[in-house]
Amino acid sequence: MKIDRIEIIPIAIDRNEVFRIATGSELTSENVLVEVKSGVHEGWGNGAPNSVTKETTESMLSALTRMQTHLNDKDLEVENIWEELSASYPKDPSALAALDMAIWDLRGKEEDKSVYQLLGGRSGSVLTDRTIGIMSYEETIEHARDYMEQGFKALKIKIGLELMEDIRRVEAVRDTVGPDIPLWVDANQGYSVQEALTLCNKLVEFDIEFIEQPVKEDDLTGLKHVTSESEIPIMADEAVKDHSMAERIITEELADMINIKLMKCGGITGGMKIAEVIDTYGVEAMVGCMGEDMLAIAAGVHVCLSSDNIRYADLDSHFMLSDSVSTGLEFREGRLWLTEGKGLGIRMWREKIERYRMDLEAAR
Ligand SMILES: [Mg+2]
Repeated sequence: MKIDRIEIIPIAIDRNEVFRIATGSELTSENVLVEVKSGVHEGWGNGAPNSVTKETTESMLSALTRMQTHLNDKDLEVENIWEELSASYPKDPSALAALDMAIWDLRGKEEDKSVYQLLGGRSGSVLTDRTIGIMSYEETIEHARDYMEQGFKALKIKIGLELMEDIRRVEAVRDTVGPDIPLWVDANQGYSVQEALTLCNKLVEFDIEFIEQPVKEDDLTGLKHVTSESEIPIMADEAVKDHSMAERIITEELADMINIKLMKCGGITGGMKIAEVIDTYGVEAMVGCMGEDMLAIAAGVHVCLSSDNIRYADLDSHFMLSDSVSTGLEFREGRLWLTEGKGLGIRMWREKIERYRMDLEAAR
């Protein structure tokens, strides 16, 4: 594969409402699109700056501009490009994710295959949750009702600011949706170890499938303690950003499950490296997201379909945006379905990309 041209496009799309979690809140979602061209084919990727990897739209643009020079006039293998870029740009995983995704999309189109086929995965669909941000008790109930009406079959509740109020909100959601809907909670590092232990005890009666990242990402001793004491499985999210950390978390029993996010680990290739680790140890994982548009969500679906141990998908950020620059991923019966297209199976709306293109000079 030889790449003829790369285009890097920052876009900003408003969210439907402010999204609040334990570490902050956001009204607009910024994304960086990457288009790679080779002969008659084009591939697209999509990255989102975020506080977990500490990347901004500006840092992503700068990293991608520098990454381009590694690709010029070379015959490339996806895995080799990734290894080289991942070693050279360790602080830019979301930028790498966007480029890596575009190259996988391109490779699928060149080989007339879907990305999940290239990854050795199965066809099909993935059940996704819908996430309820941190909001008032009444709004939490309203949102739970709305999402049930929209056809979602699992909910994730963001917590991590006020322990007793969080427990009250989780209880209210369980009462609202009944006993059969899977509920997940995510504290985004919001609690002390003591608070996390209280939380785990109190939530047992509400049949919660897992709790994400209860304590600070660098408090691995605390994470291990909570994991060993909790009856509810604990999932590491912010604490795991690559496959070596995933392996450490599993072998040292720091958490029970892993949240794979393409933005944390450098895209599909990085995600597959974590999938290899969880498959080796038979540990369950989820694929999550970080404010990306549908294109990157589809990439997450392809990764989900590559391993039977990826049992959960939190692939809902595109539902939170007021518009999308891409189309092709369908939502039916609580599940995300890939359409027949090759590569990632997504079509881009060029007019919309222009509409939401950021003028960075004007925006800052
Ligand atoms: Mg999380």
